[in-house]
Amino acid sequence: MTKVSFFGAAGEVTGSNFLIETDTDKYIVDCGLFQGRDTISELNDDPLAYNPAQVTHVIVTHAHLDHIGRLPVLVRNGYRGPIFATEATIELSTIVLKDALGLAEERSQREGAPLLYEEVDLNRTLQQFQPIDYHKARRLNGTDQFTLYDAGHILGSASVLLEAGGKKIIFSGDIGHWPSPLLASPESPPAADIVVTEATYGGEEHVGSDNREEVVKKALDWTSQNNGVLLIPAFSIERSQELLFLLHEMFEKHQLPKMPIFLDSPLAIEALAVFEHHMELYRREVVKNEHGGHDLFDFGSLALTPTVEDSKDINEAPHPKVIIAGSGMMAGGRIVHHLKHYLSRPDTYLLIIGFQAPGTLGSAILGGAKSVHIHGQEVAVRAKIEVAEAFSGHADNTELMQWLRKIEMPSGGRLAIVHSEPDRAEKYLSFVKSHLPNANIIIPKIGASIEV
Ligand SMILES: [Zn+2]
Repeated sequence: MTKVSFFGAAGEVTGSNFLIETDTDKYIVDCGLFQGRDTISELNDDPLAYNPAQVTHVIVTHAHLDHIGRLPVLVRNGYRGPIFATEATIELSTIVLKDALGLAEERSQREGAPLLYEEVDLNRTLQQFQPIDYHKARRLNGTDQFTLYDAGHILGSASVLLEAGGKKIIFSGDIGHWPSPLLASPESPPAADIVVTEATYGGEEHVGSDNREEVVKKALDWTSQNNGVLLIPAFSIERSQELLFLLHEMFEKHQLPKMPIFLDSPLAIEALAVFEHHMELYRREVVKNEHGGHDLFDFGSLALTPTVEDSKDINEAPHPKVIIAGSGMMAGGRIVHHLKHYLSRPDTYLLIIGFQAPGTLGSAILGGAKSVHIHGQEVAVRAKIEVAEAFSGHADNTELMQWLRKIEMPSGGRLAIVHSEPDRAEKYLSFVKSHLPNANIIIPKIGASIEV
């Protein structure tokens, strides 16, 4: 008997957490934070549905907080075994988890909310990480083993093929959108009895995906002509680095007007070192050309602003200029300060390149709000707003299906759709049914299980 239970990312996109039980072992794949609307974030306070002290092994797909954010909770509650991940995932997770704890401590001091875990739990968690290469099967117990495949979503991201209790189970992790400027395209693990797949963009197609350079050029030309400010809210891990890589390449080809570019995100700046350390994970074309050198993120007009003082000084810098800052959904971080300063100016260009969850400042601006509240102050929206899906880090509907179709499954093989809002999961289910009529597909609710 092999049983798979869904304790997160079930009926929504955050909090990924799956338990796989055989007669002798209990494995966990991902232990992420619930993020977004209050009702969802409150799930973080619930006790784990299983006893972490009885878990034998943990495998992590990638370093985004919604996949790793509760690992220290697992450890705090008694998990003492290994946490397997690629080396790049371990290095990025270290940065991301430390940053998350810092933010949680600030919030706790401000609002008096209890912390989910403390520094001692985090340090212990980091010590339990063990690096695993792609494609190298790692024996777990008896005949059980697992293998990681490149998911092309962020640096080091993986899909997991877990062979447990005589059954093969694939966990997609988050599947990338391709081609990526930096990363290799996602790989499909070869075969499975059960596939647990994400469907963040189920039923949706990314439009204009191949015009990243055009999008960037249009924004920079406009900013130069209007002597303005280009604001780009970007996720700190992967999106910011991809943008820099693209800008570097375009500047070298003399395609862009010269102006200073500020990377104003301590997390993104720290992550640059991990990206430089793991160039072997880039797309082959990137590794081969001259930009594959170690100065990938170091070019004349780029300024890094790690400290708050550096960040404040950006306001004094003459126009035109570019500011790349987190958070990607404008829900916090330094971008909010820049929006407060520049959103009301008609010479500002706001380039929105990522998903904006309902309820965030980003979604209000995207929805055409004439004014927004920032830090208790009403700010008129007079900036030029542009949206580009070209930078999405998630496979769209067609790509999800292309990834799935390469996996060999027995007739009646099981498919569980997770990491998706309910309407998108339903759309993806219908789409898969039309291509694989024999598949046995479910959209599990939180706490649901399947047995094979
Ligand atoms: Zn992710």
